[in-house]
Amino acid sequence: MGAAASAVEDQSNLAYPSSGLTHRSLDLALDDLYGTQDFALEVADRLGAIIRVPSESYDDFGKIGEDDRWQTFAVLHTELKRLFPSVYETLDVVNVNTYAQIITWRGTETNLLPLMLTAHMDVVPVDASTSDSWTYPPYSGYFDGTWVWGRGTCDDKVDLLSLLTTVESMIKAGFVPSRTIVLAFGIDEESAGTQGAPYIAQYLEDIYGKNKIAAILDEGAAYETPYGGNVIFANPATAEKGYLDLRVEVSTPGGHSSVPPSHTGIGMLASVIAELEAHPHEPSLKRSDTFFQEIQCAAAFGPELPESIKQLAYDAVEDDNALGNLSQALLEWDPAAIAKLSTTQAVDVISGGVKVNALPENVWALVNHRIAEHSSVSELQDRIISIVGPVAVMYNLTLRAFGKNITTGDKGQLTLTDAFDTALEPAPTTPVRDSEPYGILAGTIVAALQSSPGYDGSQIIVSPSLAIDTKSYWNLTRNIYRYAHVPADAYFNGLHTVNEAIKLDAVIGRIRFYTRFILNWDEAAVAQTVF
Ligand SMILES: [Zn+2]
Repeated sequence: MGAAASAVEDQSNLAYPSSGLTHRSLDLALDDLYGTQDFALEVADRLGAIIRVPSESYDDFGKIGEDDRWQTFAVLHTELKRLFPSVYETLDVVNVNTYAQIITWRGTETNLLPLMLTAHMDVVPVDASTSDSWTYPPYSGYFDGTWVWGRGTCDDKVDLLSLLTTVESMIKAGFVPSRTIVLAFGIDEESAGTQGAPYIAQYLEDIYGKNKIAAILDEGAAYETPYGGNVIFANPATAEKGYLDLRVEVSTPGGHSSVPPSHTGIGMLASVIAELEAHPHEPSLKRSDTFFQEIQCAAAFGPELPESIKQLAYDAVEDDNALGNLSQALLEWDPAAIAKLSTTQAVDVISGGVKVNALPENVWALVNHRIAEHSSVSELQDRIISIVGPVAVMYNLTLRAFGKNITTGDKGQLTLTDAFDTALEPAPTTPVRDSEPYGILAGTIVAALQSSPGYDGSQIIVSPSLAIDTKSYWNLTRNIYRYAHVPADAYFNGLHTVNEAIKLDAVIGRIRFYTRFILNWDEAAVAQTVF
């Protein structure tokens, strides 16, 4: 049986803490606590308090220590200390790069690799022109009896709150982990991502070494019932696309616009953009793609996935024609599938020209790319050169691409660069098949859902998926999962927009999940032998 079928096979997982009586009884005791009204109100209070610290993340952030706007994070730290005294008084808390935070709950068994759980403390700024459109003010943290309102309730202060509440509750209940648990909180996930996660990664790598974290649970997509029939699909991302911001720059001689050439730099740049858009990346599906496994699961368990797609998915396991037809059928059924089937490009920024009577000397555009799982940065660069090259020749421009001279011309220069030096290969794929770490995650998801109050799903399917946004702690472990244990309908209005609000019930569900995840990991044997 090929790898493709593995995700489908592995649906028997169910993980409840069991070792001895301690973990099981602690699990039940905490589950009881989490079911009380007092606990729910306390969670709402704490989440509200965290929301009221507007730790906004800015694209134009200056350096820490120079840009005063970073100081909000100090306020947030103080608030977290007040809200979670057991965590901050008894565990090791280290701030890296001033505001990113690593909290270590040291385990008694040093041979067990640590489990790492992450959240980010920053939020997307509230657009001032929209603040009147919020039902409750964006930094109110108001709890209306069902929803907690405010920027960050869904992304990602719910994780900050849930992780800290879980650990606070477990400390109070007397739990002492055998496996070390690391909580890591970034500070600029919503902007450059250069000030938090990389510092955290380096710090942990220095302490534990490469590949010495057992697994990392990072933020990701919610679970939902996308194929009807009340079949819940939880799709932890086990792969992520690559990334390239392309800068295209055309430099041509200036001069007075009364004696213009037939094409100015702006016209030339326009041709480059038109060519790029005339050659969109071809969608393609490979059997080794994570998306292929995702579709296999949907075909096997999704009641309302169209029969034609199901049939193609079954046939595609061995039949190449069916594989090609499957990607076409998926696109027709859901055009957004393009993001999972191909590298994508989006021309997002353009600039050039200073005056109406002067020829533009430097014009440029930025093109954002998310690189398909089966492709690479260099493959993308080569493709861009092959499309842009003929334009350079047509206008007699010198083409310099990613540090190499490609063609020479005497009318100016066309330059292609990695705009911010942030190119990223597609992530190494997280092992799924026969992977104990993945099994613990999948089993915990199923157990947490099945035992949650009000559970009415008909089946729970855990399927690996492809993340189309990038973030990474690649050096620390191969076992990185991007997943949010929350139902998609617990978000009032999605992320990064007005009326961000989350259902309190779902927050409690998240805490139940984290608790069980920690307990299940604590009794798992995964140690040095981690891949
Ligand atoms: Zn986020």
